[in-house]
Amino acid sequence: MPLPRTRGTALRQQLAELRGPDVAPKALDARALAALAANPGCDRRALLDGAGVDKAKLASALGAPSAFGMSQFAFMRGNAFEARVKADGGAELLRLVHEKLDPGAEPPGAGAVPDLSAIGPEGRAARTALALREATEAGVWTLLDHPMLALDVAGSAAFLEPDAVVVHPDGGWTVVEIKSFPMLDGSADPAKVGAAARQSAVYVLALEEVAARLDPAPEVRHRVLLVCPKDFSNLPTASAVDVRKQRAVTRRQLARLTRVEDIAAALPEGSCFSPALPAEELITAVEAVPATYAPECLSACELAFHCRARSRARGAVTSMGRSLRAELGGLATVTDVLAAAHGEAGDPADPAVAALRRATLLRAEALRGTAAGARADQPRVPVAPAARTRGPEDLAPGLPTPGAPVPEGAAPETPLPGAARPEVPSPGLPAPGAAVLKADAPGTPLPGAAVLETDAPGAPVPGASEPGIPSSGVPGPGVSAPGTPVPGASAPEDPVPAPGASDGREAGVCL
Ligand code: SF4
Repeated sequence: MPLPRTRGTALRQQLAELRGPDVAPKALDARALAALAANPGCDRRALLDGAGVDKAKLASALGAPSAFGMSQFAFMRGNAFEARVKADGGAELLRLVHEKLDPGAEPPGAGAVPDLSAIGPEGRAARTALALREATEAGVWTLLDHPMLALDVAGSAAFLEPDAVVVHPDGGWTVVEIKSFPMLDGSADPAKVGAAARQSAVYVLALEEVAARLDPAPEVRHRVLLVCPKDFSNLPTASAVDVRKQRAVTRRQLARLTRVEDIAAALPEGSCFSPALPAEELITAVEAVPATYAPECLSACELAFHCRARSRARGAVTSMGRSLRAELGGLATVTDVLAAAHGEAGDPADPAVAALRRATLLRAEALRGTAAGARADQPRVPVAPAARTRGPEDLAPGLPTPGAPVPEGAAPETPLPGAARPEVPSPGLPAPGAAVLKADAPGTPLPGAAVLETDAPGAPVPGASEPGIPSSGVPGPGVSAPGTPVPGASAPEDPVPAPGASDGREAGVCL
């Protein structure tokens, strides 16, 4: 007679159906668990991870394969660096832990390095727990090289393998994370340090489960040691990283994973994420689970390209970054933002709406100013005394009127000596003796040249006659040379980013 279905077995059965028939669950590793903390509000990821769906295969089946992976060269370089850090019984590693985290303790001599080999992950986890207990009781510096830890995730064990765990003489335990990205002048890429901190926080949670089974429970330190190559060398350097925040977020996320049954219950009947299904069916199933895409997903989740395309198609402002989303309050889409900015929607008392309308006014003013400035920016036309000018008001007495016949002997393409062709901007300096009309381009007229109606910044040349301009040629405050943007001003045609626009951060995908 079959056993009655409990709540746990019913959930496992439902998750197995979501994975698809004969699809083995993908075990969660520390990276996957850490990535949960990178986007805590995503139901889609929580459900897929809880069900053990292989998201990389799912992304390929959806037509948006992930770009995750590590080059063979980087892999070998990382392994070589880790071996160097742990050489000589971990002497250098223990020295770094002592220096950065526990300088008050006795200096480590030849630390103990217990053998942790066993059969299978369960055997290795049990052997690690035993070694941790023995080292804590011994009260000596001990290095556990690649221990195996088990963490309960949604009712099943996830096996995690940190780079190292160090037991201090006072019985405290410290997680050590060894990475191959460089630490330059004591600082490293914040995104990579953040990812390493989230990963270490998962190990801290797993160690706390082991510690909770001992009496008295040893302290699991919440400051981990991050070891990286120093500058551009292969020498190790280290920094202490506080992972309390990441630990709290990850713990909340793992508790949330146990609620995947609530998320699964909201799915349409017959939903399945098997990569063997046609893409249309998969898209329908995936889109049935709410997702909160953010640019951080690109470095943390295999479904990032699919979710990004959908998020952009909806015009969700989150696709441009969480900070922007937070500043826009209740305006969740680009359409809402534009409507609020143009006064077509939105509560004027809402600070976000008020700020948008103010920004719209400022932009319009800036564009008007730019357009007026552009009209005043006529090209500099150096003319000789006999040159034709644009209009009668610009004519000096005795000059021919526009349209007057060109003197005989002068070919239409060949201007008279010293004369400039009208309507032809002259980017260079005017000819000696030529007058500059309505010029505001920077530049220094040649000696003897007259500058008319100019507001050009630029030092006047001694001897040049300058009717109609201030005596000083030095531009005053707020005056900028044409072509030089005023600090803080937006470009005249600076567009509002389109929903599909990529921001700079997305280009730098961290693998
Ligand atoms: S890529 Fe998609 S599924 Fe993954 S965390 Fe981001 S929104 Fe969620």
